[in-house]
Amino acid sequence: MSQKLKRGKYRSVILAALLLGLCRAGQVQPALGAAPSATAAAGAVTLFQNVRIFDGKSGTLSGSRNVLVRGNKIESIATGPIPIDPSTATVLIDGGGRTLMPGLIDMHWHTMMVRPTPAQLLTADIGYLNLVAGAEATDTLMRGFTTVRDVGGPAFGLKRAIDEGAVAGPRIFPSGAMITVTSGHGDFRQPFEVPRTLGAPQSRGEQLGAAMIADSPDEVRVRVREQLMLGASQIKLTAGGGVASPHSPLDVSTFTEAELRAAVEAADNWGTYVTVHAYTPASIQRAIAAGVKCIEHGHLMDEPTAKLIAEKGIWLSTQAFPDEMADAFPPGSSERAKALEVFAGTDRTFALAKKYKIKTAFGTDILFSESLAQRQGELLAKWTRWYTAAETLVMATETNAELLALSGKRNPYPGKLGVVEEGALADLLLVDGDPITDIKLIEDPKHLLVIMKDGMIYKNALRK
Ligand SMILES: [Zn+2]
Repeated sequence: MSQKLKRGKYRSVILAALLLGLCRAGQVQPALGAAPSATAAAGAVTLFQNVRIFDGKSGTLSGSRNVLVRGNKIESIATGPIPIDPSTATVLIDGGGRTLMPGLIDMHWHTMMVRPTPAQLLTADIGYLNLVAGAEATDTLMRGFTTVRDVGGPAFGLKRAIDEGAVAGPRIFPSGAMITVTSGHGDFRQPFEVPRTLGAPQSRGEQLGAAMIADSPDEVRVRVREQLMLGASQIKLTAGGGVASPHSPLDVSTFTEAELRAAVEAADNWGTYVTVHAYTPASIQRAIAAGVKCIEHGHLMDEPTAKLIAEKGIWLSTQAFPDEMADAFPPGSSERAKALEVFAGTDRTFALAKKYKIKTAFGTDILFSESLAQRQGELLAKWTRWYTAAETLVMATETNAELLALSGKRNPYPGKLGVVEEGALADLLLVDGDPITDIKLIEDPKHLLVIMKDGMIYKNALRK
């Protein structure tokens, strides 16, 4: 057989294999899709002795327990001693009656946008942005946040590096680019970039994969499916105006119901859901009518809207923004004015969420500030203004994990998160005290003596 013929035959075999779907996705397109969760912990065994458990579900601590972690899961929890297998190296952690709790979850995070300023985001080299995001991801994990839901930004590369163990960081549930209309929240173009010619080169934000512009149901479908192809675990659209975006007043509704519905249909066909950025009653109500499952923010909602959210069983993923967050925007700017208008709605939103028992998820949405990010735990503790410490901690663990589970089979980390129970994924914190009595322990990472994610120990201050 001639070389040419052989090559031709080889090519047709590959083609046939591709057509038949015989090649694993990972082999054909290693850059795409979700990498498997870290396997480095496969053989690791850790025994926590004499710990009191906050299990993420009930608001009380257990009595003294022993907890065995094997690989990336919690294997057993016992009141009596758990024998150590002499044939396996076991890391022993003497808890001394301290609290073992699930790793914290932040449901509104932008891994790529925490540290850079808005100007840096739009102008800096993507390599630089990735390295800075990697450093921040490590800090995020070392604050006890073992999982984040990324609701907009080019996080796929960072996620992969973390999952492969190249960078220490939290689990990331990525949305990929947030999808916006022309002039909507996420459209950071300059006026000279308008009009957009279909088929013309993309704007900077689109090239980065930070935000994609879509102005019809068909365009929305393309953009949604692209994010799903890249490994999005859920889809994020911006249904109304936003604070940080220069061309979207807060009061506007952006996508039409038909456009929102196109996104919902594409996500639903893929087994997952759409969450939308929305502050106002009109934008929230339209999103719900289109089948959206989760509302981000909701700070300007009214009573009928709160009632609707509750009746339809829609999730509210909201935040208690600190006033300093407005400092990212110059005094006198419209962005700063919008920030203050949103912040003013916080108390009312929490009151409505409580009154109507809305399924509420905790998140921070920290942007453009490394120093604010260092206060991530403090922003969680701040929720005790509206909820008890126990309710707050349950929200940041088990409740948040319930919302993560809406990703169904697109969940990149199959297994139970947000709880301390047998069989759950081993994302654990050993707290130097009782966080239910003193939630301030969560504010300063020095009180987190052990930080474990996926069965791997990232910090052990008790090691002698
Ligand atoms: Zn956000």
